[in-house]
Amino acid sequence: MKKNINIALIAHDNRKDDLIKWVLSHKAELSIHNLCGTGTTSKRVADATGLQVKGYMSGPLGGDQQIGAAIAQREIDMLIFFWDPLTSQPHDPDVKALLRIAVLYDIPTASNPSTADLMLIALANKER
Ligand code: PGA
Repeated sequence: MKKNINIALIAHDNRKDDLIKWVLSHKAELSIHNLCGTGTTSKRVADATGLQVKGYMSGPLGGDQQIGAAIAQREIDMLIFFWDPLTSQPHDPDVKALLRIAVLYDIPTASNPSTADLMLIALANKER
């Protein structure tokens, strides 16, 4: 029996194309779930894939914090966060806080496509 879960999608600017490519390659699997994301990421993913993605504020304007709060309120079950390992971010404290909250609440978190692939495989096996 398939179950909808709530998946948050976030990518820093240099990783947005990678995230869109990953979402496109898993579009059918992801379409049964509730997707959300930070402002620019959610819009770009929705435009590129046709999937519905609930948008929070842009990351640097508080979107990471909103998603962290949603995790704390048990409204998000999985985090796909392709952060940029090569560029410092003006909102780095927010990024760190979000990753901390994801660990604290034991939320499966992927920062690259291969981990995100494994999480979807695990989810599909769990749903059987
Ligand atoms: P964005 O935010 O999706 O609004 O670009 C992502 C981030 O930088 O955390």
